[in-house]
Amino acid sequence: MRSDARVVVIGGGVVGASVLYHLTKAGWKDVLLIERGELTCGSTWHAAGGMHTINGDPNVAKLQQYTINLYKELEEISGQSCGMHITGGLMLAGTRDRLDWLRMAKARGRYLGMDLEIISVDEAARLFPLMNKRHFVGALLDPIEGHVDPYGVTQAYAKAAQIGGAEVVRQTRVVDLKARRDGSWDVITEAGNVHAEHIVNAGGLWAREVGRMVGLELPVLAMEHQYLITEDLPQLKGQKEQLHVIDFEGEIYTRQERGGMLLGTYERAGVPWSPLRTPWDFTQSLLPNDLERIAPSLEVGFEHFPALGEAGIRKVVNGPFTFAPDGNPLVGPIRGLRNFWVACGVMAGFSQGGGVGLALSQWMVEGDPGADIWGMDVARYGDWATLVYTNAKVRENYSRRFRIRFPNEELPAARPLRTTPVYERLHAAHAVFGDYCGLEHALWFAPTAAEATEQVTFHRSNAHRHVGAECEAVERTAGLLEISNYGKFEVTGAGTEEWLSRVMANRVPRVGRIALTPMLNERGKLIGDFTMCRVTEERVFLICTYAAETYYRRWFERHAPPAGVRVRACAMEYVGLSVAGPLSRTLLQSLTHTDLSDTACPFLSFRQVDLGMVPTLFGRISFTGELGYEIWVTSEYQRALYDLLIEAGREHGLKLFGGRALNAMRIEKSFGSWAREYRPIYGPYEAGLGRFVDLGKGDFVGRAAALEEKQSGGALRLAMFTVDADDADASGDEPIWHDGKVVGWVTSGAFGHRVQRSLALGYIPRTLEAQTEGFEIEIIGERRPAQRTVRAAYDPDGSRMRS
Ligand SMILES: Cc1cc2nc3c(=O)[nH]c(=O)nc-3n(C[C@H](O)[C@H](O)[C@H](O)COP(=O)(O)OP(=O)(O)OC[C@H]3O[C@@H](n4cnc5c(N)ncnc54)[C@H](O)[C@@H]3O)c2cc1C
Repeated sequence: MRSDARVVVIGGGVVGASVLYHLTKAGWKDVLLIERGELTCGSTWHAAGGMHTINGDPNVAKLQQYTINLYKELEEISGQSCGMHITGGLMLAGTRDRLDWLRMAKARGRYLGMDLEIISVDEAARLFPLMNKRHFVGALLDPIEGHVDPYGVTQAYAKAAQIGGAEVVRQTRVVDLKARRDGSWDVITEAGNVHAEHIVNAGGLWAREVGRMVGLELPVLAMEHQYLITEDLPQLKGQKEQLHVIDFEGEIYTRQERGGMLLGTYERAGVPWSPLRTPWDFTQSLLPNDLERIAPSLEVGFEHFPALGEAGIRKVVNGPFTFAPDGNPLVGPIRGLRNFWVACGVMAGFSQGGGVGLALSQWMVEGDPGADIWGMDVARYGDWATLVYTNAKVRENYSRRFRIRFPNEELPAARPLRTTPVYERLHAAHAVFGDYCGLEHALWFAPTAAEATEQVTFHRSNAHRHVGAECEAVERTAGLLEISNYGKFEVTGAGTEEWLSRVMANRVPRVGRIALTPMLNERGKLIGDFTMCRVTEERVFLICTYAAETYYRRWFERHAPPAGVRVRACAMEYVGLSVAGPLSRTLLQSLTHTDLSDTACPFLSFRQVDLGMVPTLFGRISFTGELGYEIWVTSEYQRALYDLLIEAGREHGLKLFGGRALNAMRIEKSFGSWAREYRPIYGPYEAGLGRFVDLGKGDFVGRAAALEEKQSGGALRLAMFTVDADDADASGDEPIWHDGKVVGWVTSGAFGHRVQRSLALGYIPRTLEAQTEGFEIEIIGERRPAQRTVRAAYDPDGSRMRS
């Protein structure tokens, strides 16, 4: 084994091998993979090898497509067969809701270039005669599903990497990792040490243990997973290979394995494996079978596919594999550790392994993953994702693997975990809560405790009219919203303005003012949107998206401020309340001697204001598009402030409102939001944020690329639509059609209660910028006429928020 390498990849499962191959492909040859046993000896070797393109996140779906299309290339380079069987796949719907869900998946597939088709039960049964038609109402056909040989794929990656210059060392365990001052690492192994510039933790079942070597508790947990293989079925003799089939209602998947069928299930009562630590002596091992546990699923499966029930069972496999709390991989650099990368929590290694390897290698080599991988970025989890939280969420996710997640559905596991001081008060006011980074926040308010539950649906829910009433109050009188779930940073010190000016695209506002700003990466793409609030010369309060706090911290570390400038993530140290609506000023003025008139406290001002006895940071800004204020306090004051506002609000018709109403109102105003309209695949001019990019202020990260985009105009445009919807609004990821062709995708949608129209925001090609007619948006499989509106649907001049 060499003693120096540019990169040491720890782990020779399918993921580590893919990372190794992609590093060599990206041009880094001096790379070493260290595997404690033989390649595949973790969770990879006993996998069922199934692969499919569909994923809830379209960006992850793209990487799955990439993975499946990669196998041919791998076989050619390595000479090693991947054992590919592209049989095509059927997803069977047993209910109308499921068929709607499949229609939505098919619709989403349109702009991803997927060739998906909804077919009738008869057609499905013709393609897969083993099914009992009685239990199904329709199906989705995907021609590029199938399965591969897990061993063959991993070997092919490793061989192709070795051909590209990489070294693979087997039977050698990494026992410790020591950081050097220069950011490089000493990798301590059973066979000696290696000095490496970068480490990749692709430890799979042991990713937690490898993380712990550097003080990191990764949110991953292994679950036991069982599948069985039947004896040969006479029905399959002489037939062409059966399709890969998912039966959502039965919560099972099945495919042909030689002359029999393989049948696996994600049972509801799934069992975690080694919840605290993974034994090092678990090598190429399986777990004892527990057919009792999966008996309910098997019963359904045998009813849905009778021939499988008639055949004997040849083999049962029970093996563990890992999941992150939301079921998507954990990929990327770790904040706070230099040159330490992870590629773990990959639950579908044969659909996702290639995409994970590609993204990570590009990130390491080019400094950017080259794709929008927010959905699998390890930075989407913060300190709140503890071991026990992860355990609860992973079990929930596993049990729901084949269940529908409705757009308005909130999941119950690990809740409530994080609550703010006003939680009990909001609860008493019949708030229906949502979970955001483990934090409870009010989505909407029901009139009575008995009504404070939302029915999950693809259509407008029982919340609809209550959300409407909240919007009406904000439009006519005043509304009160808790905003603690926004992200907050505080930047202090002598060089604050210079540093912020360097990392943000807009000019830092003068003291007492607020400025909105995109944050760009070097490629000029959007990696954040911030509200900069200048408290003093040397103190700027930043408001942003809380879910991206770790992501931003990692970026701020990469563009570290000079000595003397301190950047502090405030998490829940500051919590907030927002008052919005035409009576909000009068209400707030009754609580303070500070002059809040428009002259003294104009739109976009920011200052310290005492409300009653409560010292606050007080900004005149609101995401609702109304006259409004965002008020920040340290957490011990929040209850007092809340009580004060509620009391004073009585005579001003103050009504509580929640996140649903806020979302509807920001869409009416065409205000974008992070992870929806603003993501690293869009540039600021494409996203309509060009007016917040100050190219004249001097250099800043992404300036050159932004200038280029301004000059070229970019490729896309964020567009706003009024949709001729029925009782279902767009919710995101629906295709946008123009003149009979799919030209774009929806990023957000809602019913705009103030304008009484169904609205959607989404991206279209810039070449269609001048068009307002001829658009359609596909909602639950139906193409709905959509009128593009050039100006915001509500108060396009912005006079209400400036009044
Ligand atoms: C029963 C079953 C069925 C499955 N079916 C499918 C399927 O149909 N389709 C699909 O896509 N996926 C399936 N999976 C999941 C799939 O197996 C995983 O997604 C995949 O194996 C993850 O690969 P990995 O490389 O991340 O992890 P692993 O395979 O666990 O690899 C990690 C490797 O790191 C090594 N390692 C760890 N720590 C160290 C150390 N300190 N020093 C040196 N080496 C170390 C380990 O020995 C191991 O080889 C299935 C899993 C199971 C259990």
